Amino acid sequence: MLQNSKTALSGLLPLVLSVLSLTSAGAAPSGGYSHKGAAELASTEAPEISPLKLSTFRPKQGEVVELTVLGKDLSLEPGAEPPAVEFLGNKYKLFAFDSDNGAAYRALLTVPVVQKVGSTPVTVGALSTRVIVMDAHYPVQRLSLPPSKNNFNMAKGEEEAVDKAKGTVSPVRHWSKNFNAPSKARLSAGFGLRRIVNGKLLPDYFHSGLDYAGFQGSPIVACAPGVVVLASTGVFKLHGNTVAIDHGQGVVSFYIHMQKINVKLGQKVDAGQLIGAVGQTGRANGPHLHFSIYCNKVASNPRQWYLKAF
Ligand SMILES: [Zn+2]
Repeated sequence: MLQNSKTALSGLLPLVLSVLSLTSAGAAPSGGYSHKGAAELASTEAPEISPLKLSTFRPKQGEVVELTVLGKDLSLEPGAEPPAVEFLGNKYKLFAFDSDNGAAYRALLTVPVVQKVGSTPVTVGALSTRVIVMDAHYPVQRLSLPPSKNNFNMAKGEEEAVDKAKGTVSPVRHWSKNFNAPSKARLSAGFGLRRIVNGKLLPDYFHSGLDYAGFQGSPIVACAPGVVVLASTGVFKLHGNTVAIDHGQGVVSFYIHMQKINVKLGQKVDAGQLIGAVGQTGRANGPHLHFSIYCNKVASNPRQWYLKAF
């Protein structure tokens, strides 16, 4: 497992007590975070010429990589489905689209936050290429929690329901533009943060989204068009009231710790549509929205979706 799923979504605290930058080797949490110089990697492991086209060959931890390949390069039998993309132990389905060069396929891959830096293969059937994973230098947040909140306990069925929504892969791509922020509130915790709680580094934990420190009842809107695949109120202990929206082709956004929910399971929503209000349900010690974007179950940095239209 790339991360402890019990800790994957938990958003929690609106109050950043202190953020330390991981600058010295002594503060690095594990060998997996050691940084190999980019020049050193580039000189020995330049990308190969491949029919597999990538939006970047140097993705950072938590970054999304778009892979495209022309249908003719896949040598498919008529009517056959393309093989899955294999990347860092995860399989991503390819989806057809019309490119300037004819029929083509694409998939959005994500580098896990906890992925080690260095060269790693990307494979589609007999085709392959490589990327070099770069260190994103995510900071460490130090905070204190009372014993009653210092756990990741979940309600019966909570983990299964969240995992099921995260793993939604539906064929229609609902979005065509950049995603918008789901709240106008200020950001109180960034993506990828590791945490030291009550003096102890949480070994498998990273912050899987962005925290918006909205006041209780402030509006939450959909980040992009899609279909509601989870709308849970009054059940989840860790996540609290939660909405998940399927944007299609393996991309799912999550909104957790909500006060109230204005949408129903199966409902189609537009970008910017009101879906509920900021609260502090679940494991949260103050009102805030925790917002995540998953690509095939892997948490990606939401900022990237604001800046770029995939
Ligand atoms: Zn959070």
